[in-house]
Amino acid sequence: MAKAVKKTKKSAKPVKTAKTAKTAKTAKAAKYVYFFGDGKADGKSEMKNLLGGKGANLAEMVNLGITVPPGFTITTEVCTLYYKNNKRYPKELKAQVEAAMAKVEKIMGKKFGDPNDPLLISVRSGARSSMPGMMETVLNIGLTTKTIPALIKKTNNERFVYDAYRRLLMMYSDVVMEKAAGVEPKEGEAIRQKLEHAMDAMKKQKGYKSDTDLTVDDLKILCDEFKAIIKHTLGKEFPDEPQEQLWGGIGAVFQSWMGRRAVSYRRIEKIPDEWGTAVNVQSMVFGNTGENSGTGVAFTRNPATGEDVFYGEWLPNAQGEDVVAGIRTPYPVNRAGKTADTQHLPSLEESMPQLYKQLFTTQKRLEKHYRDMQDIEFTIEDGRLWMLQTRVGKRNPQAAIRMAVEMMKQKLISKEEAILRIKPDQLDILLHPSVAPVAEKKAIFLARGLPAGPGGATGRVVFTADDAEAWAKKGEKVILVRNETSPEDVHGMHAAEAILTARGGMTSHAALVARGWGKCCIVGCSELVIDVHRKEVHVNGKTLKEGDWITLNGTAGMVYEGQLDLLPADPDKNPWYKELMKWADMVRTLKVRTNADTPGDATVAKNFGAEGIGLCRTEHMFFGPDRIKAMREMILSDTVDERKRALAKLLPYQKKDFIGIFRAMAGFPVTIRLLDPPLHEFVPHTDKELEELAQEMGVPFDKLSAKNKSLHEFNPMLGHRGCRLGITYPEIYEMQAQAIMEAACELAKEKIKVMPEIMIPLVGHVNELQKMREIVVSTANKIQQEYKVKVPYTVGTMIELPRACVTADEIAQIADFYSFGTNDLTQTVYGLSRDDAGRFLPVYIENGILEEDPFISIDQNGVGALMQMAVEKGRKVKKDLKIGICGEHGGEPKSVEFCHKVGLNYVSCSPYRVPIARFAAARAALRNRQKK
Ligand code: PEP
Ligand code: MG
Repeated sequence: MAKAVKKTKKSAKPVKTAKTAKTAKTAKAAKYVYFFGDGKADGKSEMKNLLGGKGANLAEMVNLGITVPPGFTITTEVCTLYYKNNKRYPKELKAQVEAAMAKVEKIMGKKFGDPNDPLLISVRSGARSSMPGMMETVLNIGLTTKTIPALIKKTNNERFVYDAYRRLLMMYSDVVMEKAAGVEPKEGEAIRQKLEHAMDAMKKQKGYKSDTDLTVDDLKILCDEFKAIIKHTLGKEFPDEPQEQLWGGIGAVFQSWMGRRAVSYRRIEKIPDEWGTAVNVQSMVFGNTGENSGTGVAFTRNPATGEDVFYGEWLPNAQGEDVVAGIRTPYPVNRAGKTADTQHLPSLEESMPQLYKQLFTTQKRLEKHYRDMQDIEFTIEDGRLWMLQTRVGKRNPQAAIRMAVEMMKQKLISKEEAILRIKPDQLDILLHPSVAPVAEKKAIFLARGLPAGPGGATGRVVFTADDAEAWAKKGEKVILVRNETSPEDVHGMHAAEAILTARGGMTSHAALVARGWGKCCIVGCSELVIDVHRKEVHVNGKTLKEGDWITLNGTAGMVYEGQLDLLPADPDKNPWYKELMKWADMVRTLKVRTNADTPGDATVAKNFGAEGIGLCRTEHMFFGPDRIKAMREMILSDTVDERKRALAKLLPYQKKDFIGIFRAMAGFPVTIRLLDPPLHEFVPHTDKELEELAQEMGVPFDKLSAKNKSLHEFNPMLGHRGCRLGITYPEIYEMQAQAIMEAACELAKEKIKVMPEIMIPLVGHVNELQKMREIVVSTANKIQQEYKVKVPYTVGTMIELPRACVTADEIAQIADFYSFGTNDLTQTVYGLSRDDAGRFLPVYIENGILEEDPFISIDQNGVGALMQMAVEKGRKVKKDLKIGICGEHGGEPKSVEFCHKVGLNYVSCSPYRVPIARFAAARAALRNRQKK
């Protein structure tokens, strides 16, 4: 929201200029119309804000000496003034349009509206950034009952002229007389549909297959019929005056800026209303005058693969809309673009070799000039090639990476530009399998949730973790569908292809775990009504039963019915990706670590380029079947001795885990956090479990049950957790410190380099840290003496409470390092429960109260300001204090950039986000360099 407001202010500037120009006596009259044609243009490509993307590029092509049909651009400023002045144009506009039109007429040697030799024009919109589908083009403006005979005489092609006329009738009535006029027809009753229906009826009656089968006489009848339908449907005659058509077209473009489609597109893309659109008026050239004509669209490189081959489609004897609208199947532009399906179709290269050569040279020039892949439109009129448009072409992420790397190698762009051209999110697609776009387009949509784990997955619905595991063991692909997950579901989550939950936000258990494994996951999908007992889920009027197939697009948060095709992920086989990442590592200054709790995750992360572990959550190690028993025994113990006995059972497990992790991360630092979550997360949930435990511990059931109940907390997230556990039960942290140091000492004896960093969670007061540090240090000293080996270790803290930020200078006197726990910090700064926010945060985002979920991207003004304060205060006390982040934000590109800016040493994130963080860190370094 704030961003949009900022942009709005900036974009208001041109309007002010115009006003000043108008009121100042000495100033020249404001220029509202920019001419282009015959080697001369008033504008250039840098003038996108004023001329729109299309207008600026048309001017630039003319400046480059490329053949473009002459025309003029009415500026975006006119659009802004039009709305400001109650839909009136500035008074100078008419004369300026007339003057520009006269120039066009001179070049073309024809006059607009001339009953002897008429000039026809097109009217198109063109905003600063392309807005697909905002307004269709109106072609063939200037055809009237008076000019038609002249054009027939001139072209000697009556069929062509009537075909052009029926297209004008269709486009004009649709775009100008219906859409721009704000007419909202009922479903199936839009004027375009009615006219298409009439044309289809005629084709059917005559037994024609294609539009081109219509004869002159058919078209004449059809045009009369069209006019009658227009009059009847819209209550107005189709205008038979060229000037009326022209100004109708111009007005429609401006009207369309505030049309429903355009407004909603702008809301999504965060484009301010004040930008306005330009209008391009251009003389017509025709690709449908006969077999010596044609039209096409092309890309200077393949937009799907990125391969450096000229790629495009064309049709002989056709107008632009025939190629893009799918009315006729277009042909490949060259031999290289032919596939098995299109092998037999004539390419432009084969049909018109000379013109193809000219087109090929032009596209090469355009790409070189713009230093990026171009999307171009061209028309051939009676053997002459005209360029109609060039713009930076859209491409898929794989193609974007390949193009950036190859363009750097071809010296079109620098390494830095190559990095800045790729958005970190685009790498995601390479790291996970994804739903095939073709399949997704046709898929049946079921529901939408929060995109917690990117990538695509398809599988059969199961409702319990045990079922997930059992089905997977039988070789079935399953998707685990739950209201929410808990640590007890991890085996099923692991076995499943993907996880879908009805509740929870982006830092919910399901989201954290799935991201850690790089698993596709959608959470907070509130449309799901799950009935675990009947093993079915109701969603948007449908019922899915256990075993039914669904497909998730975890990158977009979309759930679909059925089994959709997936595209595999294999970054290691992608040489361009590998090269790009090498360059990124060369420029970044921020280190990237991972959040990992097992040797397996640590190895995956290391292979993704992690330079250490920034967070090992030790509590995740207590959920194995044997471990949880010992853990529960420890929690439900009444005395220190009992507790120590239970802890002694846990010690060997922890030690073994740490040995595995240290080994996997040999030579890199490993931050291990001591126990953090509220104890009741581990306690038995059923009487059966409690009974078993009572027997094992030799304690009466009632006593154990009472103790269990006594652990209940009203607000566990702010309750007995974090270092508060270490304060009340120091023996827990003692055991953990012992396990860490024994593991480290054993490996040190094997000459393996270990670098443990022991981290105390949820510190709010320096004295908490002081006490915990004493425990860790005395245990560590003891172990080192026992093992007779020295292991360098440090003791630091998480900064995840506002008080820790505010007193960071006091804490720095005791801490060797800081790691921001931005999950809890966001929760506590905002006073937002991280477990429950998923229910209402989406409404905040929808209503524009928040631009983004603060659990996804750091709230820079609030949470970020406290982080900055903590960094400054901490480094005032210890200049070189090592500071990192291990909250979920550590893998989110914007947050990574923020961390770079405030001077953190590293970010830590889930293994599968490591490459994205590395890349985001490189972009942050480059962008900050640019700013300086
Ligand atoms: C945090 O709070 O940001 C953090 C990393 O710890 P956890 O998510 O385990 O509370
Ligand atoms: Mg935390």
